[in-house]
Amino acid sequence: MDYTSMSKEELIEVASELKILNEQLLSEQRQSTDLNYAWTGNLGHWYWHVPSNKVICNPHKVQALGFEMSEIPNPLTYQFFTDRLHPDDHEATMTAMLNHMYHGAKVYEVEYRVRCKDESYRWFYDRGSITKRDKSGRPLFVAGIVFDITDRKEKLKQLEQDNRVLLEKTRKDEVTGIFNHRAVVEFLNDQTAVSIQTKQPLSIAMVDIDDFKKVNDQYGHVVGDEVLRQTAQIIADSVRETDMVGRYGGEEYLVVFSQTKKSDAEKVMRRILSKVRDFQYEQGFRVTASAGISQYQNEMLSEFIARADNCMYEAKKAGKDRVITG
Ligand code: GH3
Ligand code: MG
Ligand code: MG
Repeated sequence: MDYTSMSKEELIEVASELKILNEQLLSEQRQSTDLNYAWTGNLGHWYWHVPSNKVICNPHKVQALGFEMSEIPNPLTYQFFTDRLHPDDHEATMTAMLNHMYHGAKVYEVEYRVRCKDESYRWFYDRGSITKRDKSGRPLFVAGIVFDITDRKEKLKQLEQDNRVLLEKTRKDEVTGIFNHRAVVEFLNDQTAVSIQTKQPLSIAMVDIDDFKKVNDQYGHVVGDEVLRQTAQIIADSVRETDMVGRYGGEEYLVVFSQTKKSDAEKVMRRILSKVRDFQYEQGFRVTASAGISQYQNEMLSEFIARADNCMYEAKKAGKDRVITG
């Protein structure tokens, strides 16, 4: 149709006809959505006329955001939604759209959060593509569907959180609450790689409670467990954030001193042993512990640990309640 030769009145008439047609299309679209499809009440359709930047959409997305159709700008623009995008999702959404429109991506497909009328955010899954181009190939119409996936995202978040809690549990020792054998050895393994790369020293201590069997025999296992917990706490409270202590065996602890040479690890260990020695339990008894220290020499992990273990046995042989460094 040649609009250039039309009078103003004729143009107004054409425009109002188009408006009616538009509403007709929209109402048909709404009806089809309202057929009892599984996605009814969730799926929103949108049509974007790129040159005029006008957006036509059925009310679902707008209503999901808490607006009535009468509250949204008329004509609705692409920016009405993009201005409400979560800051963390803005760039990815824009990039996805630009990639589809101008850089050959087959579809526009993205998940993002949009700010609702009440300032909360809802998650949407949005997928669309160019449905019409002008003579020179520029996008004219883009159409798509959008799903509200907020509930699914929340379930996913809860699952991820549960997973993290479970994973953390598999790394902890149930009796003492500190890391277990597997977690501390894993950490040590990582630290040996760091030490090789950075050429920083790395030291470990093997700590074993002295005459622990006697505690169990005299006061019972419940008290024995309390001693295990208290000793673990003393060690954990005495080392740096970047160090790690784990329960290596029954009444043995492995301490990893990252970026630490053995003489410094020994100083910390002396402090720990004196705190262990000074702590009096409710029943009136005290315990002592022995420790062996080794510094990493780019050897096998098992050799590195065995050297600390041997030093710990040396400390036992020499009379317990002391630290020996290899
Ligand atoms: P040493 O000074 O030579 O280290 O002697 P010890 O008695 O500490 O060592 P020994 O290896 O003879 O005994 C360790 C005891 O630790 C034996 C075992 O019953 C006890 N034990 C191991 N795990 C646990 C636990 O989880 N709870 C309690 N209460 N006792 C434990
Ligand atoms: Mg012992
Ligand atoms: Mg032992």
